[in-house]
Order: sequence, then C-alpha cells, then structure tokens
Amino acid sequence: MTEGPSAASVEEATRCGFVALIGAPNVGKSTLVNALVGAKVTIVTPKVQTTRTLVRGIVMEGHSQIILVDTPGIFAPRRRLDRAMVTTAWGGAHDADLVCAIVDAKHGFDDETAALLAKLADVRQPKLLVLNKVDIVEKPALLALAARANETLAFDATFMVSALSGSGVADLRRHLAQTVPPGPWLYPEDQIADAPSRSLAAEITREKLFLRLHQELPYQLTVETEVWKELRDGSVRIEQTIYVARESQRKIVLGQGGRQIKAIGADARRELTTLFERPVHLFLFVKVREGWADDPERYREMGLEFPRE
Ligand code: GDP
Ligand code: MG
Repeated sequence: MTEGPSAASVEEATRCGFVALIGAPNVGKSTLVNALVGAKVTIVTPKVQTTRTLVRGIVMEGHSQIILVDTPGIFAPRRRLDRAMVTTAWGGAHDADLVCAIVDAKHGFDDETAALLAKLADVRQPKLLVLNKVDIVEKPALLALAARANETLAFDATFMVSALSGSGVADLRRHLAQTVPPGPWLYPEDQIADAPSRSLAAEITREKLFLRLHQELPYQLTVETEVWKELRDGSVRIEQTIYVARESQRKIVLGQGGRQIKAIGADARRELTTLFERPVHLFLFVKVREGWADDPERYREMGLEFPRE
C-alpha cells in the first residue's frame, strides 16, 4: 500500500448521479431544471404537459456532477401519447439515484399531490420533497404542506424553493451535490445538456407553437428537424416539419397569409441563434400526417416508448 494522494484517490473524490424531477404537470419541474443548470435546457410554458420526454440538464457543483432528468408530468393518462409520457416519467424515477418530488405549494395538498406521494412509496431511491413557487405562498400554508407531505411519506429532506426567482435553489443544488453517489463524471465538465442539437432545436420551435397557439392544438402537433446543415460562413440552416393531424389545423398554424407561421419562425429563430451562438436560417414546413399520435415512428423520434394499446 502506498500513502499520499494518487490518481485513483483524486478520482474517488468526484461524485456523479442522476436526479429525477417528478411531479404533476405545471408544478415547475422544467423551470427548476433550468434554474439549477443556470441556463435554458428544457422548455417552459404556462400550459400543462409541454415536456414530452426525458430531458437531461447537467450541473457542476464542486466535485459533483448532477444529471437532472426533467420528466413529463405525472397525470391520469387518456390518449396514447399521454400514456407514453407517464410511463417515461416513472421509468425516469426508477432509474435515478435520487428522486425529487416537486409539489406546487400554491396548490397545497391536492388530489394530484396525494396520488403522486402514494405512487412514490414504491420508489426505493432516496426521496427529497421540493415545494416550489414559494414566491406566491404564505409561510404558514407552506409549513403545513411540508408537515402533511412528510407524514404521508418519509422524505430524506425537504426544500422550499422558487424556481422562478431562484430563492432556495442554491441550497438544493448544494444538497444534491453532496448526495449523489461517488463516481466519475459521465459528461465533459462544460456540457450542460444531453440532447442532440436537432432535437433541442425542434423543442424550441414546439415551445413557440405552444406560446402562440391556443387550446388543444399544441398537443396535437409534433416538430421534427429534418435538415441541419452547417454552412461555410459559420451559420446553420435548419429545416423543420411541423406535423399536424388535420388540414384544418394546418390552416391555423399557417395563419392568415402565413402570418402565424412567420411569427413562430421569427420567435424560434431568435432563440436558436442565442442558443447555438451563430446565425440560424430556419425553414418551417407544416404537413398533415393523420394519426401521427398512433404512429410508432413518431414516438421513436420523440424518444418515447410506444405503448401497444
Ligand atoms: P412543468 O410542467 O412542471 O415542467 O412546469 P413548467 O416549468 O413548465 O412551469 C409551469 C408554469 O409555472 C410556468 O408558467 C412557470 O413560469 C411557472 N413557475 C415555475 N416555477 C415557478 C415559481 O417558482 N414561482 C412561480 N410563481 N411560478 C413558477
Ligand atoms: Mg416540463
């Protein structure tokens, strides 16, 4: 046996682990991932179920690498796409080293929270309770909620945060860094997301569609990046197809004289330019693909498993 520091002991000092964020739709999971990472790696909208698949955000804190898994919300699934999302979310929880249950503190201990905690009892990984949106909740209500949730399920720790204002986020980040298991880092130190540029680009466009279109329509479309071409002048040409289920939906996405799609394209291009730090030429096409929500190939594109029924 040799004494003193060696390459092996330096390696042992590092920690790395997967942390799944799980919770009902709209509790702020994606916002929290972005706040913990300190950059936008997953899309956020005021509408429920924007996140369709597992998105990984990567955080470096001291000697720890925290790989955050942003899951689609847990909810009572009706359509096939919904079922795929819920299965994916729970799969993410069971595969993680640590699970954060995110609860919207404004909603309190509602049915969704009760259902989430009941199902979490089957997850054997260490569990943290994260009460989010403390910026809009009174302290007594917050403490009562924390007490009740902890009576229902034995959490290893409870955090009260505002993903939006950043309050409490640094504490949570430090705790995660100390709690992930010892081990080598799985990603380069400067990498903040694990999604190919093509799918990240498609997600950005989908976010803009969500923000500009109303009601059910955004749930009935999907975006795929068909062409990603790096040009010699340092810019990139991105061609994407927006698939809708019906001709009437195509008309709405295009808008009067193509105005809607133009605005969506401008929003997306602006953000893509910032995200990829280079000029972006974005071309959007809208196609009708009837029954895409029942097509296994579309699920593969989204990184979801196709539920057989
Ligand atoms: P997800 O469905 O759980 O991923 O939720 P999102 O991250 O998409 O957030 C849903 C909505 O809640 C968005 O409008 C967010 O801006 C909002 N939100 C998220 N975190 C907070 C917070 O800490 N405080 C407040 N007031 N709103 C928040
Ligand atoms: Mg989300």
